[in-house]
Amino acid sequence: TVQEAGTLLSSKNVRVNCLDENGMSPLMHAAYKGKLDMCELLLRHGADVNCHQHEHGYTALMFAALSGNKDITWAMLEAGAETDVVNSVGRTAAQMAAFVGQHDCVTIINNFFPRERLDYYTKPQGLDKEPKLPPKLAGPLHKVITTTNLHPVKIVMLVNENPLLAEEEALKKCYRVMDLICEKCMKQRDMNEVLAMKMHYLSCIFQKCMNFLKDGENKLDTLIKSLLRGRAADGFPVYQEKVVRESIRKFPYCEATLLQQLVRSIAPVEIGSDPTAFSVLTQAITGQVGFVDVEFCTTCGEKGASKRCSVCKMVIYCDQTCQKTHWFAHKKICKTLKDVYEKQQSEAAKEKSREETNGKLDVNSNCVDEEQPEAAVGDPQEDPSPKDCVDGEKEPRPSEAGVEGGRDGPADPQASEE
Ligand SMILES: [Zn+2]
Ligand SMILES: [Zn+2]
Repeated sequence: TVQEAGTLLSSKNVRVNCLDENGMSPLMHAAYKGKLDMCELLLRHGADVNCHQHEHGYTALMFAALSGNKDITWAMLEAGAETDVVNSVGRTAAQMAAFVGQHDCVTIINNFFPRERLDYYTKPQGLDKEPKLPPKLAGPLHKVITTTNLHPVKIVMLVNENPLLAEEEALKKCYRVMDLICEKCMKQRDMNEVLAMKMHYLSCIFQKCMNFLKDGENKLDTLIKSLLRGRAADGFPVYQEKVVRESIRKFPYCEATLLQQLVRSIAPVEIGSDPTAFSVLTQAITGQVGFVDVEFCTTCGEKGASKRCSVCKMVIYCDQTCQKTHWFAHKKICKTLKDVYEKQQSEAAKEKSREETNGKLDVNSNCVDEEQPEAAVGDPQEDPSPKDCVDGEKEPRPSEAGVEGGRDGPADPQASEE
């Protein structure tokens, strides 16, 4: 219990960093078992977050990431856990988490940016009389930098909701600091292209905000609208796609492997087709791949959106605010989407009854990535997956094709046995 541990730890004779026979510290145990309050207690008592005595070289951060507990992963990072340490087979905490499918933890690790690294810019350096970043901006900027949702609309919303940030001079200071961090990431010995790209991208969005602030009233709202406005044919947000593509293209280090990868994935794609530049970028930066079972807000890209448009049921939002923000664009295609949805429902029903009469056969061919909510809106043929029909399709797969089928050959024998 946390209480007893607390009592023990306040005695001088108890070593908070003692190890068990496998070289595991109490902090590692608590992290692995997902005990946040125990982790916090141990850290308060000086537990070494970077202890590296485990027999296979695991750190507390690795155990946290393996446990899949986001808060503990975050707590380890905040306590100064190093992210590039590897275990005895050369894997980092993020790689281990990815291996066991803890993608939220991967995202948290890949997007962590210690506040101290930003605070550095809030003090005058060298011959500067003034700091590059006014201290009051460090908090708001840090919030943007550590976001895992890189949707351009979300970034503009984050700027817009903070009066300190939503101001031309402040944005200028922030984007210059991000450019400096980007440069540092590329020039330091253990180069970090991912972080460099993220900083550069955010810097580009901040510069867009600046440009919009210059002209006219309600300027950031205008920018949000521009980003959401869809083209007449299918509602695809062309300007948004162009903004993201342009940001990537303007990355100043053309020799970077990550840049080349991104360009290779995006260049052959016609605007309006899959994948969107945003989804390619997100995947590269957050390390998220193949999200199943998760819905993303059509407006701001936030994960876990659950409010469906009640008319067409084809778009989904975080809340009413996001829905209202998107309505001016969505109302033009809502009815068309409704027809598509109804058609799909009836086809799914037909398919289901056909499957039932044919016995349960493999449905592998229906496996579709659901990464891009925009795609669902923009390109109705590309399986926009109303939830019900997706669930129906997924159910039989893990047991038939995924596990048994994979080991023992085709899925048919099992299916007929059943
Ligand atoms: Zn939203
Ligand atoms: Zn609708």
